[in-house]
Amino acid sequence: MEYPEVRETDPAVADALAGEVQRQEDTLAMIASENHVSEAVLEAQGSALTNKYAEGYPGARYYAGCEYADAVEELAIERAEELWGAEHVNVQPHSGTQANMAVYLAVLDPGDRILSLELEHGGHLSHGHPANFTGQLFEVEQYGVDPETGYIDYEALAEQADEFDPDIIVSGYSAYPREVEWERIQTVADAVDAYHLSDIAHITGLVAAGVHDSPVGVADFVTGSTHKTIRAGRGGIVICDEEHADDVDAAVFPGGQGGPLMHNIAGKAVGFGEALEPEFEDYAQQVVANAEALAESFADNGFEIVSGGTDTHLVLVDLRESHPDTSGGDAEEALADAGIVLNANTVPGETRSPFDPSGIRAGTPALTTRGFDEADCREVGDLIHRVVDNVDDESVIAAVRERVGELTDENPLYR
Ligand SMILES: *Cc1c(COP(=O)(O)O)cnc(C)c1O
Repeated sequence: MEYPEVRETDPAVADALAGEVQRQEDTLAMIASENHVSEAVLEAQGSALTNKYAEGYPGARYYAGCEYADAVEELAIERAEELWGAEHVNVQPHSGTQANMAVYLAVLDPGDRILSLELEHGGHLSHGHPANFTGQLFEVEQYGVDPETGYIDYEALAEQADEFDPDIIVSGYSAYPREVEWERIQTVADAVDAYHLSDIAHITGLVAAGVHDSPVGVADFVTGSTHKTIRAGRGGIVICDEEHADDVDAAVFPGGQGGPLMHNIAGKAVGFGEALEPEFEDYAQQVVANAEALAESFADNGFEIVSGGTDTHLVLVDLRESHPDTSGGDAEEALADAGIVLNANTVPGETRSPFDPSGIRAGTPALTTRGFDEADCREVGDLIHRVVDNVDDESVIAAVRERVGELTDENPLYR
């Protein structure tokens, strides 16, 4: 992928752009929240729509000249409604965090109560972390997973909700490898008369393809990101029923944002169109099959896996038993040297620090996009184990790097 115009005017930026493409070609992207979008999505995102101000919504804009902006946003909305079986979708949030902000703005007042999963157990900053606006504006209590099983402790959640009396319960997570039982959380929310926000940022694609149970029609609000498993480029969405549509739209704009990023909305439209093709279902099934294969390989190699396996696109490894002297950060660094890019992650009952936690999180969405199957993912699991076993052995790291190079060459990304 060349950038001739940028190269002409700005070689330093061109070097970084070309370098990033090469980095993605040559390494295994196993950060569970990442993926590779198609060239069609890239083209849409790089379009002249970036020049257009389109504050408002299709047919009701504050600016003239919005006919093509309207066309693109209407396509994105129609396709999203079909993908997630939704009554109403707002496709304007700039990110997943902005989508969540819109929901909080729509139904909460400052000082209201949020009950959400602890960050350490797989939650997200935008669910009430003290460093995020949610932790500063709202009163937050957090629930956890069962430390023994790694599964959400739904009974403890019900008791906690009864005591805390939240205004909203947040489900949907960043590092939770298991199927979430939306109905059970909805029952808890109903019992305490709270709203239920289901943030499916990671699994938008799995839900759209029907390989993970859908919270749409169960939870009051569903938010998602568009750049993770759904592969539609960077951004967010809010899904709700007609009853909340006007409040959500007003909370996105003008409540929390100005003009929409129309070029990104074009990327969403193209990516959603791709996800409506039958092949996307095969893709999503393969993502989960690959994560299962990775988990099996990890287990065979003696890694301890949080919750014992996965139902989704990610596997969470707790290194404390198998590699007590190796932190998640040590593993992340050695793996990056070997061309395997994933992230250190906290684990339930974390005993190190959030900055250098005890686990690693590995996802299969991006590998699956470039054509990896179960056998490939089993091999990748073996390679990861070899590196984690030998974080200080440069010859092992170099050997793995070479094998990674062969695997990436066999499965090119952008030709
Ligand atoms: C990734 C993620 C988001 C979205 O994050 P942005 O970086 O703001 O797009 C929101 N919620 C959860 C649970 C996530 O994992």
